[in-house]
Amino acid sequence: MMSLDVIVIGSGIGGLTAGALLARYGKKVLICESHTIAGGAAHSFSRRGFHFDSGPSFYCGLGNKFPSLNPLKQVLDVLGESLEVIPYDPLGHYHFPEGTFPVYSNLQKYRQEVAQVTPQGAQELERFEQRLLSLYDCLKDIPTIALRADWQLIPILISRCFPALLKLLPQINIINSSVGDVMDREVSDPWVRRLIDLECFLLSGLKAHGTIAPEVAFMLGERTRVGVEYPVGGSGAIVDALIRGFQRWGGELWVGTHVEQILVKSGKVIGVKLRKGEIIKAPIVISNATIWDTYGKLLKPEDLPRTYREEALKTPAIESFMHLHLGIKADGLEELTGHHVVVHDSKQDIAKPGNTCMISIPSVWDCNLAPEGYHVVHAYTLEAYEGWQKDEKYEDKKREKAQFLYCALEKVIPDIRQRITLELIGTPLTHSHFLRRFQGTYGAAIAAGKGMFPGCHTPISGLYRVGDSTMPGIGVPAVAASGILCANTLK
Ligand SMILES: Cc1cc2nc3c(=O)[nH]c(=O)nc-3n(C[C@H](O)[C@H](O)[C@H](O)COP(=O)(O)OP(=O)(O)OC[C@H]3O[C@@H](n4cnc5c(N)ncnc54)[C@H](O)[C@@H]3O)c2cc1C
Repeated sequence: MMSLDVIVIGSGIGGLTAGALLARYGKKVLICESHTIAGGAAHSFSRRGFHFDSGPSFYCGLGNKFPSLNPLKQVLDVLGESLEVIPYDPLGHYHFPEGTFPVYSNLQKYRQEVAQVTPQGAQELERFEQRLLSLYDCLKDIPTIALRADWQLIPILISRCFPALLKLLPQINIINSSVGDVMDREVSDPWVRRLIDLECFLLSGLKAHGTIAPEVAFMLGERTRVGVEYPVGGSGAIVDALIRGFQRWGGELWVGTHVEQILVKSGKVIGVKLRKGEIIKAPIVISNATIWDTYGKLLKPEDLPRTYREEALKTPAIESFMHLHLGIKADGLEELTGHHVVVHDSKQDIAKPGNTCMISIPSVWDCNLAPEGYHVVHAYTLEAYEGWQKDEKYEDKKREKAQFLYCALEKVIPDIRQRITLELIGTPLTHSHFLRRFQGTYGAAIAAGKGMFPGCHTPISGLYRVGDSTMPGIGVPAVAASGILCANTLK
């Protein structure tokens, strides 16, 4: 075994970006991944010729056509990797009980659609979007790839981003506020307010008042200015590109390698102990496991200050998911589009488990994801972890809960049940098992104004964290940014 500078626990996008950048900066890096497939929430898996995304399928700014703000693309550029992507618009269809509504990246087309439902609301939406796009225009001059999470950020910002910082000054209020605050100022139309809540929920798992304004500004700016696109080969192609870049710069990835414990001596990290019993030493360990898994399972309680540990473990978690992964016959579905969101009941909270269902059919863009004449379908909805156990009722409960997803799919493909050739139903237990995540959570429910995502530092010298329970939060671009911040801090 070579002598290591860094061990990364987990090959989610956060772990891969941190590990790959550090390898690029000349460090000897080993990534230990518990699962036999790398990528965490973004891994792809195959069954009988169908290639499924396990999680994310909505991406902006990964191709080479336009300069992109996406931190993941910036990492790929540094690694010398690129992705083939397929652009598409409309980016999705929202199915409300009162009707179906296409969502376009092109803002004018989007507003025209909104105006057909509510002309007043469309004008309010325009004002809301302008507020957020002006924030995006300031943020875009600050390159994420240059940022770090320590005091050395200050000289970087002053020397490289001074004009951008000046431009940001008038935006200081909105940077710290929730999108809900911006919405309250600009939008009174209830239909458009629900639309904004829905878009925030899809992005952060929280509605407008829980989602920070820069996150939505970034999403809106990227999808409007750069466009929405799907990577050829699915989310696994992103993971593969990061691994290629990582290995090209000398990094080593071990899959099927579960880390049992982070080893700490006299307040300093000294390495990790694998489930197989082996001890691997390194002066730096980066955990890509969640905050609950890192502090609750991988460290001994006495390794952390008691109150720090207790506070960290109290971080609220967003619920887990029910999943349906289907292989279906494609005949007669030539007009099918790839992304759909179904809200079953407008009177119920959109965040209520089962009420909002997300559907992705990526084989409409990349036909190689399914055998000829078939499509791959992934549908998912929030579902609480509590109450799920592998007992005699498990199979029935699983089928029953999957009905929300089937009913949603019937809005898009009415005869879906007759088309199925492969069916995989996933519960919160499946999600937590394959993703090695505490209670299968989507991530930390840190609402705007109620707290901030913690940075990459920990109280233990040499131990760092990346991923969706660190700054800036949930989502592939965000966790790539967390990897950049950590790697640059350790450069
Ligand atoms: C259903 C779903 C749909 C989504 N859709 C989108 C989308 O369209 N667009 C978007 O941008 N984002 C989306 N997201 C969010 C995004 O996928 C995640 O925020 C992001 O991928 C999380 O990355 P991460 O690096 O934080 O951690 P993870 O992906 O959780 O990776 C952590 C890794 O660490 C490994 N690990 C944990 N413990 C150990 C251990 N002890 N030893 C070794 N390895 C360990 C795990 O196996 C895992 O591989 C979606 C998420 C889900 C679940």
